[in-house]
Amino acid sequence: MLKNIDEEVYNALLCEQKKQRDTIGLIPSENIVSRDVLKLMGSVFTNKYAEGYPGKRYYGGCRFVDEIENLAIKRACMLLGAEHANVQPHSGSQANMAAYFSVLKPGDKILAMDILAGGHLTHGLKVNFSGIFYQAVFYNVERETEEIDYDRVREIALKEKPKMIVCGASSYSRIIDFNKFYNISQEVGAYLLADIAHIAGLVVANLHPSPVHLADFVTSTTHKTLRGPRGGLVLCKKEYSNKLDNSIIPGIQGGPLMHIIAAKALAFKEAMRPDFFDYQKQIIKNCKKLCEEFKNRNYRIVSGGTDNHLFVIDLRNKRINGNEYEKLLEEVGIITNKNLIPYDPQPPSITSGLRIGTPLVTSRGMKENDMALIAEWMDDTLKNRENKKVLKDIAKKVRRFAHEFPIYPSA
Ligand code: PLP
Repeated sequence: MLKNIDEEVYNALLCEQKKQRDTIGLIPSENIVSRDVLKLMGSVFTNKYAEGYPGKRYYGGCRFVDEIENLAIKRACMLLGAEHANVQPHSGSQANMAAYFSVLKPGDKILAMDILAGGHLTHGLKVNFSGIFYQAVFYNVERETEEIDYDRVREIALKEKPKMIVCGASSYSRIIDFNKFYNISQEVGAYLLADIAHIAGLVVANLHPSPVHLADFVTSTTHKTLRGPRGGLVLCKKEYSNKLDNSIIPGIQGGPLMHIIAAKALAFKEAMRPDFFDYQKQIIKNCKKLCEEFKNRNYRIVSGGTDNHLFVIDLRNKRINGNEYEKLLEEVGIITNKNLIPYDPQPPSITSGLRIGTPLVTSRGMKENDMALIAEWMDDTLKNRENKKVLKDIAKKVRRFAHEFPIYPSA
């Protein structure tokens, strides 16, 4: 038993389990996988080395992992309507690296969303490989609307002539117009990469337009709204399939994580079920409701609202910064993350905003009326930040409430 073999690891595991059970998780990039996905991640597939691709491995004994990987590839293509899928990236970051490596050379120019506006590290940040290998230029959101101004993106693209345009974000609450990005990329002769890490589940459920028939490469994580194991995925047009596969191995990875690929195969199947569509619909309903509840309490929401699974609160009129509010909320058992607002006067370690998302709470079965309660507790927490007794009371309510929505109900 683990407890007897390694008490430290055992205790950390128990604490994490308890924390997940006792708290309300509102980090938009987190979710709760099904029990079977969880099981596959801890399965014997982890024992197998399988460098290469199905039918072309550098190791023997790959018959069953070949079956699994073929299944995962077939299902990824079906699910998202893609011509080619590579299910081996260990993470979303490696999915992006693989897509870049397929067609770019060091020094090439990429145009992507500024991380300060909601983009990701791998979209050209100076201290990330993407900013080290490539010359990154950025588009921002507009000051007034806090949304992408596609005319402005076009202007920048025409001026900068990037080799690749990257669209997709980590913190953007509005629909992304992939058609407009496609038209711009065509006009300037750039490759188009759509990173749908955050919105993949919504795209699968047709609740957000898909970039798959437009972009040369579509990258994603599998663990956010898609509700699969922690990992990455790249889709591409057939013409790039060899380049993409070679950029993963031998390019940037050795042995694929076959236990994760098995879990991806299952998660893709789960995402084909009608209840997955209902789940994604509920994520958006919950998010809009939670957002409205904050607006009703005089919180300013970046861009005025949300079309998807997340929104960002501007805390400047509440006399608290993102870092302080994140920590305060954690005290009462509500887990969120500080986030920059567009043109934030604060640095990323402080921030003026808080990013909130509903994929995880929706997986636990929470509905709109539950969002009203959560907003009330969050607001009460802020109003009573100096009152330890009130905070303790809220923490108790949060814990009791969280227990009404077990993570793995029959466990
Ligand atoms: N792309 C986007 C838009 C993301 O939000 C993220 C993760 O937050 C990633 C890529 C990277 O994924 P990972 O954390 O698996 O490397």
